[in-house]
Amino acid sequence: MNMSFKIHNSLTRKKEEFKPLHEGFIGIYVCGPTVYSDVHLGNVRTFISFDLITRYMRHLGYKVRYVRNITDVGHLEGDADTGAEDKIGKKARLEQLEPMEIVERYTLGFHEVMRIFNVLPPNIEPRATGHLIEQIETVKEILKRGYAYEVNGSVYFDTLKYAEETGKYGELSGRKIEELIALSREDLKNQDEKRHPSDFAIWIKADPSHLMRWPSPWSVGFPGWHLECSVMSTKYLGKTFDIHGGGSDLKFPHHENEIAQNYGACGHAPARYWMHTNMLLMNGRKMSKSDGNTITPLELISGNSPHISKGYHPMVIRFFMLQSHYRSTLDLSDEALQAAEKGFKRLMEARRHLLGMRHPGQGQKGELDSEINRLLDQVYEEMSDDFNAPKALARLFELVNRINALKGGQASFEQLTPETFQRLQQTFPTFISDVLGLEDPTDEGGSGQAELLHKLIELLIELRQKARQEKNWALSDFIRDALKDMGVTLKDGKDGTEWVLE
Ligand code: AMP
Ligand code: ZN
Repeated sequence: MNMSFKIHNSLTRKKEEFKPLHEGFIGIYVCGPTVYSDVHLGNVRTFISFDLITRYMRHLGYKVRYVRNITDVGHLEGDADTGAEDKIGKKARLEQLEPMEIVERYTLGFHEVMRIFNVLPPNIEPRATGHLIEQIETVKEILKRGYAYEVNGSVYFDTLKYAEETGKYGELSGRKIEELIALSREDLKNQDEKRHPSDFAIWIKADPSHLMRWPSPWSVGFPGWHLECSVMSTKYLGKTFDIHGGGSDLKFPHHENEIAQNYGACGHAPARYWMHTNMLLMNGRKMSKSDGNTITPLELISGNSPHISKGYHPMVIRFFMLQSHYRSTLDLSDEALQAAEKGFKRLMEARRHLLGMRHPGQGQKGELDSEINRLLDQVYEEMSDDFNAPKALARLFELVNRINALKGGQASFEQLTPETFQRLQQTFPTFISDVLGLEDPTDEGGSGQAELLHKLIELLIELRQKARQEKNWALSDFIRDALKDMGVTLKDGKDGTEWVLE
């Protein structure tokens, strides 16, 4: 298979031909959730986007090491740098639980949500609290190389030195250092400890009420939020690796500061490509926990929310998300979900039809043959152009029309070689399940079994048809009634016999 693809690099703001660091391998790090409450659908969108991306890379034949962390310490309220409460610590205090009980509860919840949406687990899921030694070592290294300084037990990264030396501070987020100064001045409470307002803490001295704290050479304290990602990506993927990703809201300060820290620790940036997924909106505003504009996955599935008229199957929700490109915003609305539900059903029906079809054995390279080959090629071309799932889906729907025409008799197998039909029968369902991660909700026993089931039912329908042609009504009724008893209802129409699982 052609393994080349293009990727939009947020660092250069250009679409680039992807060149892996090591032939055939891809190392990718994505910022995972902060586990202090249930994930909302916005978080889910970001992880579905990276699931699609890593699935496609694997499908092309790459060996992918996908690292997605769990943030369980250091992420402060309001994404503040110092002087605010730790999100997990705060929740633990409110609920009178150990911080690690909070972490455990919401990590399990997160995994459950990922499973429901068919998001594959990463290869490594490191936790910040599991990497304190490494974080302390990195702070030491940054201090030794002169890019940080200690004040009263806290350690701050020297952004001015980094900016002056490299001219790169603000490169990713497109912010100018003067803007950064103004911005951080407003945010800061402990500003007096910093030499410069845009400096940020990499180790924070904890006051005695702070629940999560560890000894270090500087104080009993905790690491800064940005540090964990620099440290864990380096540990598992190396000092230079292929791709770093996350939601676009993390560009600044999180990712900008990560790049600065890596430079401080080893003299260069971590990733060669940065990928940022765009935000899920609801009613035109960013979905966000802090301002209450959220809907949880469970509410959306059950329909228990004032924002929607009914519940939606997780696969319909996943399909809805794949219908927009990962770099575009996506606005969640009831109408859009209803339209997605229709589209999803049409796609899955065509998939079922296709799996049950058999080529009669003779066919020429007609118009239909070349159309199907062209459309299949285009599905891959669209995906290889910065993972354009909506355009790939549009090609798949053109194929749906061809499949339905074959099924309904408006198109003929005579125009289609058995080889092309075989390619279609293999590629179409595989792309839907392996790359798009869409499973058929009527498929209870896994895709292999479902395929067999569909073929067997189609075979019985064919036998019944033969019985009817031979006027063997007893046999044809027997087949219909026996299937009905098993929950498979046959419906005879002008385009042949349809079947539904009740
Ligand atoms: P958090 O738990 O807030 O650290 O976020 C976890 C991930 O979800 C990060 O990569 C965020 O960028 C992403 N995220 C947060 N809100 C949204 C949203 N409304 N749409 C898409 N991604 C989001
Ligand atoms: Zn991160």
